Amino acid sequence: MKKNQISILGSGLIGSLLSIYLKRRGLDVSIYEKRADNRKGPYREEGRSINMALSDRGWRALEKAGLTEKVKPLTIPMYGRMVHDEHGKTNFLPYGKDNQAIYSISRGKFNQLLVDEAETAGVKVNFESKIEDVDLKNFQIELTSLQSGEKETIASEVIIGSDGAYSSLRNAMLKQMRFDYRQKYISHGYKELSIPATAAGEFAMDPNALHIWPRGNFMLIALPNPDKSFTCTLFLPFEGDRVCFENINDERDVVGVFKTYFDDAYELMPNLTQEFFANPTSSLINIECFPWMLKSALLIGDACHAMVPFYGQGMNCGFEDCFILDEIIEKYGTNAWELVFAKFQKVRKPNTDAICQLAMENFEEMKSDVADPKFILRKKIEAKLHQLYPKEWIPLYTMVTFSRMPYAEAYYQGKLQQKIMDRVMADPLITQNWDKLDYEDIINQMDKARAV
Ligand SMILES: Cc1cc2nc3c(=O)[nH]c(=O)nc-3n(C[C@H](O)[C@H](O)[C@H](O)COP(=O)(O)OP(=O)(O)OC[C@H]3O[C@@H](n4cnc5c(N)ncnc54)[C@H](O)[C@@H]3O)c2cc1C
Repeated sequence: MKKNQISILGSGLIGSLLSIYLKRRGLDVSIYEKRADNRKGPYREEGRSINMALSDRGWRALEKAGLTEKVKPLTIPMYGRMVHDEHGKTNFLPYGKDNQAIYSISRGKFNQLLVDEAETAGVKVNFESKIEDVDLKNFQIELTSLQSGEKETIASEVIIGSDGAYSSLRNAMLKQMRFDYRQKYISHGYKELSIPATAAGEFAMDPNALHIWPRGNFMLIALPNPDKSFTCTLFLPFEGDRVCFENINDERDVVGVFKTYFDDAYELMPNLTQEFFANPTSSLINIECFPWMLKSALLIGDACHAMVPFYGQGMNCGFEDCFILDEIIEKYGTNAWELVFAKFQKVRKPNTDAICQLAMENFEEMKSDVADPKFILRKKIEAKLHQLYPKEWIPLYTMVTFSRMPYAEAYYQGKLQQKIMDRVMADPLITQNWDKLDYEDIINQMDKARAV
């Protein structure tokens, strides 16, 4: 029977990056991926986002792998949210200070680049190899070649499951004693649509923003692509509300919803109805589990902490997993996998729990709060606090997106700040008085809260 040193399950974004780290440590690394090699034909993604936002934590992990300069040309900076109201009026809310931005990147092109880099580093990538099961007693993976239909069993010293939210390794771990597992599908699903480039070959809207049409219990967002189109994602409840996927059954329904709620976007979407019925409606899941390891088998990325996409952190968090795992390997070496994996899950789990929770909470903010003048004022006051006291007050979004602070710490600081801001915003005259606030006093309140 064939025996590998390291077997990685899944060549998604996280598995590919991790393979590069491990290969550079002189290890023998093989990846098994059920998809065909999409570098050889048109890229197709089923049920997953076409483009995504890359931010500081992701960049740091890429930098460590020496990939920053290769990834940069694939990205478009987005400096803030462009909020579209129902009358087509827009309001730009910066994400952070000066040139702080999150970066739109195509999932397909990014994944292809990472697989190319993995192969160049010497990783063996086996496509159309579907993991059917993992035998954790004998440390063997069982796979089917989707080309020939043949089955194969491969022994491995180390098995790493980066095979996403429906991980085969996690399924095998589920059968073990004392394995905790929790999954939750949220009430909303999503569908991807597009805004093509204009007839003149230009972007139809400002490309340096994440566009958002918040409508209370549902929303539309759009991220720019290098070909000057935008990929839009429509988030709606599956059922139960007047505007929900269940109630959109024909072209008239689609046009009705878009003309009523997203009129300015509708004008830019010539393929709307065709795309609406051709593209799948996908669900959104949150997954938490523990432990993430069993002997020298480890879960990483979405396989152990799939989150809803409303903080734009799933991939960034998975990349940070790779960065931190590599730091622990640096310290303990490549002959103590159980110790390395035990240290990794201990340091990482509270942080991934925090970002999963924040991602759920941010859904409210995106679909309704950003349209509320009180929310906009709140952000303005926080931005001013950050400007006056850059170390003492860091807005939650900045801590999560533009810092490397552990997510659990950001969560904790964010909750303290939220309480203080709730008190500030409770003043009935805040709209008139916000510029005359005693900002120093707010910072003192924060210091006291931290000291408790
Ligand atoms: C709508 C949406 C928008 C998002 N936007 C963002 C964003 O803006 N920013 C961000 O940071 N994150 C975002 N995310 C999250 C991000 O997509 C995930 O966190 C990220 O893709 C996780 O990477 P992964 O490699 O762990 O898993 P995956 O990307 O799911 O990769 C898993 C790989 O394993 C393979 N595989 C699965 N099962 C098997 C098997 N049995 N055998 C062999 N191979 C297998 C799959 O084919 C796949 O290639 C978004 C997610 C969604 C749904």
